[in-house]
Amino acid sequence: MLLSITTTRRPASDLSYLLHKHPEKVQQVEIAAGAVHIFYPEVSEERCTISLLLDIDPIGLVRRNSGPGGTNEFALEQYVNDRPYVSSSFMSAAIVKAFSTAMNGRCKDRPELVNEPMPLEVEIAVLPVRGGEEVLRQLFEPLGYKVGFERHPIDEAFPEWGESRYYTVRLSNTTTVQQLLSHLYILIPVCDNDKHYWVGQQEIGKLLEKGKDWLPGHPARELITLRYLKHQKSLANQALEMLLQAEGESSEEDTKERKLRTHDLRLLAVRDELLLTGAHTVADLGCGEGKLVKLLWAEKQFERILGMDVSFRSLEIAKDKLKTDRLPPHQQKRIQFIQGSLTYRDTRIEGFEAAALVEVIEHLDEPRLAALEKVVFKYARPGAVIITTPNAEYNALFEDHEEGRMRHSDHRFEWTRQEFETWGRQVAETHNYSVSFKALGEEAPEVGALSQMAIFITKDTSYVKR
Ligand code: SAH
Repeated sequence: MLLSITTTRRPASDLSYLLHKHPEKVQQVEIAAGAVHIFYPEVSEERCTISLLLDIDPIGLVRRNSGPGGTNEFALEQYVNDRPYVSSSFMSAAIVKAFSTAMNGRCKDRPELVNEPMPLEVEIAVLPVRGGEEVLRQLFEPLGYKVGFERHPIDEAFPEWGESRYYTVRLSNTTTVQQLLSHLYILIPVCDNDKHYWVGQQEIGKLLEKGKDWLPGHPARELITLRYLKHQKSLANQALEMLLQAEGESSEEDTKERKLRTHDLRLLAVRDELLLTGAHTVADLGCGEGKLVKLLWAEKQFERILGMDVSFRSLEIAKDKLKTDRLPPHQQKRIQFIQGSLTYRDTRIEGFEAAALVEVIEHLDEPRLAALEKVVFKYARPGAVIITTPNAEYNALFEDHEEGRMRHSDHRFEWTRQEFETWGRQVAETHNYSVSFKALGEEAPEVGALSQMAIFITKDTSYVKR
């Protein structure tokens, strides 16, 4: 199967800086399914083409396909299937392997080329497209591509058999090479509507990473997400939630509060409570930009710290602030950031001695709160859980207070002390925890403090010392 990328930007031969140097040589890389040959059929000032020829080893494919997931998806189709002859998720694997530097937006010798949109044409020799022409246009046109194609008959010798789902596709657009590769990486298997491997949670990460700049605004994002995640509805819903969160949200707490710097005090109070639990492993759920993680990191007691948030952008900021990539290896092992949603069960947050949710619950619609409750208290079940949320009664003290107005536009509810305690007691009872409540911040007469905290301690294990 063959994929070619051509540019007419002058000098066109610059393409080789971005994609693969030494246009005069045929080069090779290996992927699990076979060999990828990379070569330049045309190199001139006016026009430069690079081709990927993916040579799948059909027998090896059948034999090797007993990897993660454990099933041999080709068992029935065995040696007779279209995989060696069409572009599919194998082509995505080849693109990543052959063009990883360009996909990551790097170019050592000519860094200025990375962000330069250039006229690019792509030809995919054989692409299976479920849903045909309409789907092809639906996927590529919103990204600015002109789409040309030729549909192949099932068998040229028997025209009466009709058309197949195989197309030769030609795409042209003016965009950066990095964007083009990320589009192809995701949309080739989406057209094919199949994948050669088992699809799990980590596949969401790939989709969000490669699609973050263009998928949230794509009109067919639902179709893309569903097909990319092999029609697993729960994974697709999670991915969509994360995509949309990443797009338009601001996770910083209210400016009013920032002025008061009460948020920092709140985080110190949570850190102290976590220290008191005696926990060595802690998960900061809805960690935002990682302020609590940073405080926890300074405490030797915490051997393993996980920060989880639904927002990709916040996590990027968190990692940047903590400079996690520059930590020595033993420190890198201590801290991990993951993207995830607290309204879906996630095994990655299981097994922690303690967890904190600082000013997170009020960001969820009340019905979703029931899902969070289960995810945290039923499935993840940390020994101790610290939850903080605003105290709605305190809002009366804000100068510009209006009845019913919340502190932050993204808050879905704000509770009085009574409401929070009622909720907390019910959660504790349902899931076999004890619970106590504390004011967070200075307490004013009648209305109490700015925020409130609930400390849940499990009744069914003894590892949490207080
Ligand atoms: N705990 C941090 C951030 C609080 S802001 C701090 O105190 O500084 C609320 C955070 O909850 C945001 O970062 C938001 O992205 C996150 N959040 C909202 N809904 C979420 C969900 N369903 N799963 C995980 N995180 C969520």
